[in-house]
Order: sequence, then C-alpha cells, then structure tokens
Amino acid sequence: MPFERHVTNKRVVHDLKKRSSLGIVFYILLSLIVVFADDFYSRHASFSLIFILSNVGICLFRLIHLTVSRKMGERYETLNKGIFFSSVIVTALVWGLMVALITSLNGEYVTQLLINVCICGLCAGGVVAFIPYRRLAVLFNIAMLMPVIITLLVSGLNRPLFMMFCLFSAYMVMIAYRGNREYWDALENEYLLEIKSSEMTHLSNTDVLTGLYNRRYFNDALDREWKRSGRNNSLLSLIILDIDHFKKINDTYGHQVGDEYLKKIAERLTSVFKRDSDIVARFGGEEFIVLLQGVDNDHALQLAKNAIHDIASMTIDHQGEKIGTTMSAGVNCCIPDFQSIADSLISGADKALYLAKQRGRNQVVVFQPIADRV
Ligand code: GH3
Ligand code: MG
Ligand code: MG
Repeated sequence: MPFERHVTNKRVVHDLKKRSSLGIVFYILLSLIVVFADDFYSRHASFSLIFILSNVGICLFRLIHLTVSRKMGERYETLNKGIFFSSVIVTALVWGLMVALITSLNGEYVTQLLINVCICGLCAGGVVAFIPYRRLAVLFNIAMLMPVIITLLVSGLNRPLFMMFCLFSAYMVMIAYRGNREYWDALENEYLLEIKSSEMTHLSNTDVLTGLYNRRYFNDALDREWKRSGRNNSLLSLIILDIDHFKKINDTYGHQVGDEYLKKIAERLTSVFKRDSDIVARFGGEEFIVLLQGVDNDHALQLAKNAIHDIASMTIDHQGEKIGTTMSAGVNCCIPDFQSIADSLISGADKALYLAKQRGRNQVVVFQPIADRV
C-alpha cells in the first residue's frame, strides 16, 4: 500500500500541536522580560501594554483552543487546523512587528538586544516545532523576521544586523526544508513498519494453504472466548470436522489435487459459518475446527449437518473427473465454568468425531458427557 500524505494528516496536525504547545507560555515570559528588564515600559507605557496584552491574549487563546479542539469531533478538523495555523502566524506577526518597531527606536540598546535575542530563539524554536508542516514553518519564519528585515533595509539603520537577519532567515528556511524531509521519511518508515507488523501478525495467524485461521490463532481465540463466555454465563459450541478417507484422494490423484480439495472445503465452511463471531480454522492436516459463540447444541448440530451435507455434494474437477468425498463432525457445547479448561471443549468434540467415524462417517455426533448419558 503506497504511503499517502493525506492519510496521515491528522497525525501531523496532532504532532504540530504537541510540539508547539510547550513554547506558548515562553512568549508571555519573554515579552515581560523585554518590557521590564530595562524599564522600557516606563518610557513607552502604551506600546509596552499593547505588546504584553497582545501576547497574553493570543497565547491564552492558543492554549484554550488546544484544549477545546481536543474535545471537538473530527467534523471540525479543518476549522481547528485553520484556527491553529492562523493563531501561530498572528503570534509570529505580533513579535515581528514589535521587533521592527523597537529596532527603529533611538537609544533603546538594551531592549533592542533583548528582543533580537528573543526573536532569534523564538524563530528557531518555532521553525523546528513546525517542521512537520513546511509551509507553516517557512511562513512563521517570514512573519517573524520580515518586518525587521524590511525596516532595517528601508531605514539603512544597522547593515550588519540586516545581513545577520537575512542569513538567519535563509538558514531557518533550509532547516525547515531539511527537517521536513527527515520528519516525513521517519513517518513513512513508521507507517511501513506498522503495515509490515500487521502483515506478520496476519501471517502468523493464517493457514497458508486455505487462508483460514491456523491452530495457533484458534487456541488463543478459544482461551479468550472461554473466559468471556464463562464471565457472561453464555453458551460456547465447538465443532471438529474431518474429511473422510482423504488419504485415498491423495493416493489416487496426488497431493496437489488433495490441496485443491482442502481449499475448496475451506471456502464452503466459511460460507456455512458466516457470522462475524464464528471462528473457522484449519486444525491440522484434513481437520477443521469451528467455534460458535452463544450457540446451543441443537443449533450447532444443525450447522454442522448443513456443512457436511454441503460438502458431500461438493466435487472438484480433475482431468474431466469429478472428485469428492464426505466429512464427519463432532459437536460439543457448554457454558464454560472456571473449574474446567478450554481444552475440555475440544476433547469432547474430538470424542464425538471419533464416534461419528466409528458409526460409518458422513455424519455428525454430539458429545454426551458421561453424567448425561442414559
Ligand atoms: P478418516 O476417514 O479416518 O479420517 O481417513 P483419512 O484418510 O481422512 O485419515 P488419515 O488420518 O488416514 O489420513 C489423513 C490424510 O490427510 C493423510 C495426509 O496425507 C493428508 N493430508 C494431511 N495434510 C494434508 C495437506 O496439507 N495436503 C494434502 N493434500 N493432504 C494432506
Ligand atoms: Mg484426521
Ligand atoms: Mg480424515
């Protein structure tokens, strides 16, 4: 299955939010340091107030939105993504404009130094946080640095600082591109690994020839269902089916024809036991096993009869010849109790199957516990 970017969209937005949520409070803390460290607020009170209030406002909005959007359903995913992206860009613009304004003020060297250090750190942190979405990382970088770059270019105030911001911005764009590629490669590897691991699980639970569940899977499922039915006090039925005189088919027509026959039987069994909760497995060579939840003796007997009736009329073509045989089945049903083990259900059905063979094959026998026998 190819790796599709849109499939992982939700995961990427989730990563973005997680990566960026950490830094949100730093915007508020740093704006306070910039404004109060060198008494900047006493010289530019309204300017400082706007800076702090806009920072607190947007950061609170982002924190509230992060909490609320987690609780909103998938229906609002696009809206939430839009709000998240816009609030990130607005944060960057608030800082970008403040840096541009403070840089153009005369004599505010300490505050200028502080805010320049802040903007470099915030810009680098933001670009790295938004790496999963390259466009957002680049836009964030532009919104933060472009206002001061333009101000410095137009005013011709500080050429070295102008050069430094240009280089820094270009470097951040390169980081965004490189990091984005690495992020998506890692995501693709993770995705492929998940697929491989689910393929491996499927293979380890499947019988290669028939495509049915294998014995390993069946045993696990039986243990699980035994406990569940025991807890719920509900019925659990098990049927073992064995092909009659199968060896003769192999000996007469060859192993490959035998294999074809096994495959066709598997198909038929899955069409008889077709409830979602029915578990049909290949138990061994020419033996199949079925687990039926919430099914009583009579119902299991009827289903087993349907199966062997269906299979008795089934043939496969081999060089113009129609090849077929019959099946025998043993049924066992109980409400699991915690004194017995799940294997007792199998051994009962196996004993019933043995009786079915003894009584002439092509029939179903229901297991009778000794206490119940007349
Ligand atoms: P019965 O009616 O008593 O069950 O007789 P049977 O011949 O079916 O039973 P037996 O146990 O004597 O023989 C089972 C045969 O199933 C022998 C074996 O070669 C065959 N068999 C087991 N697994 C496979 C398989 O994967 N493919 C094929 N083609 N044959 C298999
Ligand atoms: Mg057998
Ligand atoms: Mg057999």
